[in-house]
Amino acid sequence: MDDPGEIRGRIAQLKCRYESGDHALKGDLWISPDGMSALYQAKSAGFCFGVRRAVDTVYEQIDSGKTPIYTYGPIIHNEIVVRDLEKKGVRVISSREELEKLAEGIVVIRSHGVGREISSIIEERGLSMVDATCPFVKKIHRIVWEKGRAGYEVLIIGSPSHPEVEGIRGWCTGEVTVIENEQEAMSFVPKSDKPLCIVSQTTFNLKKFHKFVEIITRLRYHDCAVLNTICNATEERQTEARSIARYADTMFVIGGKHSSNTQKLYEICRKECENTFFVQAFDDLNLRLVPFRGIVGISAGASTPNILIEEVSNLCRKTILSRC
Ligand code: SF4
Repeated sequence: MDDPGEIRGRIAQLKCRYESGDHALKGDLWISPDGMSALYQAKSAGFCFGVRRAVDTVYEQIDSGKTPIYTYGPIIHNEIVVRDLEKKGVRVISSREELEKLAEGIVVIRSHGVGREISSIIEERGLSMVDATCPFVKKIHRIVWEKGRAGYEVLIIGSPSHPEVEGIRGWCTGEVTVIENEQEAMSFVPKSDKPLCIVSQTTFNLKKFHKFVEIITRLRYHDCAVLNTICNATEERQTEARSIARYADTMFVIGGKHSSNTQKLYEICRKECENTFFVQAFDDLNLRLVPFRGIVGISAGASTPNILIEEVSNLCRKTILSRC
């Protein structure tokens, strides 16, 4: 068993950093009366602005009473929310082919956005489009569109199969390449002799983005416009999770395994804290994993509903803080 003095010392150190106003630790901290257990819940856990806006948009459409309602792809990577929407009659369109078969209804575009082609199909079929694309993603659409028209070739740093990147690609007007790893950055060869415009997927790792840009601009390409389009919500969530994971004996990362930002969060925490666990649903919370002495940290991906975070947090508080 861990040394009680060492545990108290670590908790006191965390408390001191928390109370000193550390910018990375703005969440909630609870400490048991004997100072032997602590629970930290990240402030940045859960829905980001763009996801909240998209989910709220679908519920607003339901409230308006208009039917049928579709979302182009699941509105978020969270089965609880998607199932609730299904119960309320919202159907998920999974492909362009399915979209082309629709004869009527409302199609909500999720925060990831879509390319121009998808918007055109919706329009041509006489469907109504409710665009809940996150404004930060919309900004990237505008950038690649305008730069393409101004004669730039576009390079997107991100995952080629991610819907957000597919959507950004769909706003490019000329040559475009997507790279997602260092090897691809090293071997990148422009498709034209035009100037290059570099943008990023909003959830891409900031350090990697800078590294890849450096490789490309130093080794391969000089005439380029670099636009850091990474969203702060992701960076803040990752920084806070990393900071608490450094102290934690156990970390819970709440969210769907299909959500790339939750996966990244899990990887970041796992590097700092070996006992990092995914919690996809309340039932996944195995309380035997919770140490009753030490520090437990909670973070959650951008698509995790608040209700699930609160359920996990309440149970942890009850279990950890009351058993000391
Ligand atoms: S992570 Fe940022 S860009 Fe992506 S949906 Fe959320 S707020 Fe928008």
